[in-house]
Parts: sequence; structure tokens; C-alpha cells
Amino acid sequence: MRENQTLCIEDLHIRNMVKNRAMARVISDAAWHELRSLLAYKADWYGRRLVTVDRWYPSSKLCSTTGCDYINDTVPLGVRSWTCPACRAVHDRDVNAAKNILAAGLAER
Ligand SMILES: [Zn+2]
Repeated sequence: MRENQTLCIEDLHIRNMVKNRAMARVISDAAWHELRSLLAYKADWYGRRLVTVDRWYPSSKLCSTTGCDYINDTVPLGVRSWTCPACRAVHDRDVNAAKNILAAGLAER
């Protein structure tokens, strides 16, 4: 499996995120769709596969440690890192989410 042949992105629920004023400043439907179109175009151009992970996938709450799969429902928005109560791994919110999105995307093939 060549992981770099596949791009995995998360289908974000933009409308709900924009209701959050802090996030509304950096996100809009238009910008997200533009980014997705660009990624799809680039992936196609280079013969790569673009996988969109379901928007309900708990990418930022799921522990990315292999075999742990603990879902932390208490991670508030804005918290940058959290410690998994099950395996004690310390996760950067975005790095953890990215690992989960990649794993879920690769599992969809
Ligand atoms: Zn864990």
C-alpha cells in the first residue's frame, strides 16, 4: 500500500462551524468547496485517489493510538491537546485528527 497515493480529507459540517463566531472568520462554504475542487482536480491530475471521510466521523475525539480507539467525548473546541484516559497517550488535537482521517480514508478502499 502506497499511502502517498491517496489523499484523505474530512467532510466538515461547515454550516454548524460557521455558527461559532471564532471559526466563522476563517471558514466559509465557498472557501471549503473551492479547496475540495482544487484537491479533486490535483488528485485527478496526478492519478491519486481523493477520499472524503464522513462528517460524523469523530476524528478529533477518537484516540489515534493503534488498538486503543477510545472516544473522548469531553474534548472541548479550542483545547489543543488532550491525554487519552485509556492509554495515556498525549495527543495534539490536529495531529490526532489527521491520523484518524488518514486511517479512515485508507480503510475505505
Ligand atoms: Zn488511547
